[in-house]
Amino acid sequence: MGLQPTIKLNDTRVIPQLGFGVWQVPSDITATVVSEAIAAGYRSIDTAAVYENEAGVGAAIQKNSVPRDQLFITTKLWNSRHGYDDALRSFDKSLSRLGLDYIDLFLIHWPAPQRDLYAGAWRALVELQRQGRAKSIGVSNFNIPHLQRIIDTSGVVPALNQVELHPRFQQRALRQFHAQHGIATEAWSPLGQGQLLEDATVRAIAKKHARTPAQIILRWHLDSGLIAIPKSVTPVRIRENFAVFDFQLNADDMRELAALDRSDGRIGPDPETADF
Ligand code: NAD
Repeated sequence: MGLQPTIKLNDTRVIPQLGFGVWQVPSDITATVVSEAIAAGYRSIDTAAVYENEAGVGAAIQKNSVPRDQLFITTKLWNSRHGYDDALRSFDKSLSRLGLDYIDLFLIHWPAPQRDLYAGAWRALVELQRQGRAKSIGVSNFNIPHLQRIIDTSGVVPALNQVELHPRFQQRALRQFHAQHGIATEAWSPLGQGQLLEDATVRAIAKKHARTPAQIILRWHLDSGLIAIPKSVTPVRIRENFAVFDFQLNADDMRELAALDRSDGRIGPDPETADF
């Protein structure tokens, strides 16, 4: 995967540390936007059944000259498909919309604890990995008790947990649990959906390094050992967000960014109470 940094997963596969997210990218422009991202150098693409743009991601992969084994494609199982058989069927549909014969990483999108079916969904993912059609399997938006439950009931530790994470919501307790169990941490909304780009601390560090605020935040993710999947539909920003491999933050920068963490810094839904 070239010179870009990667993280080794607990199943021995590797994932690029910087990927490209396509939530809210309209389906009719997804192929174009993902092609831009691949041309810019991204090799990891994050979609989901519920984003309704898997076909566009697939179209970009088909028409691209980058070999399939150099791409890392993630998609996710939606909450209404948590039953074991339903999960297997839903995976087949995602695969077919993407036009692929395997997925690099398949995730349970939310635990949806009020449905209480995520442990069965996890068994389906374990089966898909056994079949070799999902090379790596993981979860998204799982809190510690949700993780503990699937580990206890299946004996299989997820490769990765994709959660909301940015300097204003750093998820320290969850990351510590991940580190203890060999689970990689992937940050969704790594830029705080753009809200963090106006932060005075981020802007001051950006000025000092002659970089943009988005580049400073993405560098914080990389220097923190996280996987980040920023989204943009604007070609210049897609490239800007990928141009972060030629500088590093120093200890003072990291300390100042660490201090931005807030207990009420969450932007998206709380996984425990999210009802969809
Ligand atoms: P993000 O933090 O990546 O922010 C994206 C927004 O920031 C853009 O829409 C744009 O407005 C702005 N932006 C991006 N680059 C910029 C730049 N260089 N300069 C100025 N503004 C810029 O937020 P996101 O899209 O919510 O999250 C990224 C990805 O994470 C999603 O596309 C999706 O793949 C994933 N995600 C997953 C979940 C989940 O439940 N698993 C939830 C949300 C997002």
